[in-house]
Amino acid sequence: MQEFDVVIIGSGPGGYVCAIKAAQLGKKVACIEARERLGGTCLNVGCIPSKTLLNSSHKYFEASKYFAEYGIEFKDLTFSLEKMQAHKEKVVNDLGKGIEGLFRKNKISYINGFASFIDQKMLEVKKKDGSIENIKAQNFVIATGSEPISLPSISIDEKKIVSSTGALAFKTIPKKMIVLGGGVIGLEMSSVWSRLGSEVIVVEYANKILATCDSDVSKEMQKILEKQGMKFILQTKALNATKTTAGISLEIEKAGAIKENIEADILLVAIGRKPYTSGLNLENIGLKLDDRARIEVDNNYLTSVSNIYAIGDVIKGPMLAHKAEEEGIAVAEIIAGEHGHVNYNAIPSVVYTHPEVAYIGKTEEQVKAEGIDYKVGKFPFSANSRARTSSETEGFVKIITSKSNDTILGAHIIGISAGELIGEICVSIEFKATAEDIARISHAHPSYSEAIKEASLAAFAFAIHI
Ligand SMILES: Cc1cc2nc3c(=O)[nH]c(=O)nc-3n(C[C@H](O)[C@H](O)[C@H](O)COP(=O)(O)OP(=O)(O)OC[C@H]3O[C@@H](n4cnc5c(N)ncnc54)[C@H](O)[C@@H]3O)c2cc1C
Repeated sequence: MQEFDVVIIGSGPGGYVCAIKAAQLGKKVACIEARERLGGTCLNVGCIPSKTLLNSSHKYFEASKYFAEYGIEFKDLTFSLEKMQAHKEKVVNDLGKGIEGLFRKNKISYINGFASFIDQKMLEVKKKDGSIENIKAQNFVIATGSEPISLPSISIDEKKIVSSTGALAFKTIPKKMIVLGGGVIGLEMSSVWSRLGSEVIVVEYANKILATCDSDVSKEMQKILEKQGMKFILQTKALNATKTTAGISLEIEKAGAIKENIEADILLVAIGRKPYTSGLNLENIGLKLDDRARIEVDNNYLTSVSNIYAIGDVIKGPMLAHKAEEEGIAVAEIIAGEHGHVNYNAIPSVVYTHPEVAYIGKTEEQVKAEGIDYKVGKFPFSANSRARTSSETEGFVKIITSKSNDTILGAHIIGISAGELIGEICVSIEFKATAEDIARISHAHPSYSEAIKEASLAAFAFAIHI
């Protein structure tokens, strides 16, 4: 029987990064993955395929709507969804092979199969060919991720009623699509298919889209997406969905208990995800879950069982790939007897719509509710010269600082390359920089990052260019 120092269950961004770090720290490591390809949700049906389709659909949308403005004209602009999907598959495949290569380089044993606990030191792995292998280890890391949720009255068939997984694999463009949930995944998928010609209606239970975002950003995002052609129905509950010959009919209940049916050929359910622990046989080892079915861990990612750790989407915290990766590194260090630590106050979130949204730290609503004395510095991209040169003038940078010591409490960006720009704020928060520190740093001109400098100037004193 094979025996290891550390066995990681799941090869998503949490699991595979943990495996590499543990191997780098001198441990004998195996990673078990049930899917055909390494990389977890993120690589197979999450971050990477969605961003690839967002990129292709954006290029088409830009060419069809805006290139003429820059003096570039096409005669017959068309696109091939088949080729877009093939390109997506190639990107995903290449990156999957990249992880396999990293495993070989770091001498990590990759075992393809489904793992379940026999006891706290041993796993049973069921392989595709039906064979079973038992694996022993000193330490286990559960990194089994999450799966989409639906409502009890709406069951996903990945044909007419799809999760994000189905929505990433369409072979034809839906004529009309209802998207249940105006969160990150809902808006990213809405963007892809709306740019390629679908009529998209987003139904959201809350009174704003991107419910956890700063309200200024949510409002701006809705305005921009409406301009791009999407429709939004807010403060509305989905009651049930019935399949019809043409597609689906969704019964909704708007504010004031007004019920109505809306029809479409596809319903995408994007109302969230839940931790995935099925089949692990956690009951065999007495491992505890919390009240939201997540694996309960202490500050060192240790579960209620003394040699079993858990990280990523399967534990508390934001369901983000980079959060899982940081935890993967930290837990590998902890197992190796080093100090592993994740700063949960400095984890950014990005929405890859166009323009992008990126945020970190507290929203203005949060600082108000917590009674913190704060200042806001805001700068619009319409006053940023680089944004002008590229006709990307939508959105703004909003920085929230502590009135007493000028440190950054939160930053909220909606605009071109927001997902890259937020990096400067992450570094600033990590190093406890003040708005004045950022404002006094030389930023290249012309660059989008000057909008961060200007918003910081506005929070600290006055912006120059507005
Ligand atoms: C459409 C979509 C877009 C997203 N976009 C982004 C984004 O842009 N940025 C971002 O940060 N996050 C994004 N996410 C979220 C991100 O994918 C997750 O937060 C991340 O993948 C979690 O990583 P993980 O390692 O915890 O688990 P996962 O990536 O879910 O990996 C878990 C792996 O464990 C395997 N597994 C489960 N049980 C077993 C078992 N018993 N035996 C063997 N293997 C098992 C599964 O097959 C899976 O491959 C997106 C998610 C979706 C669905």
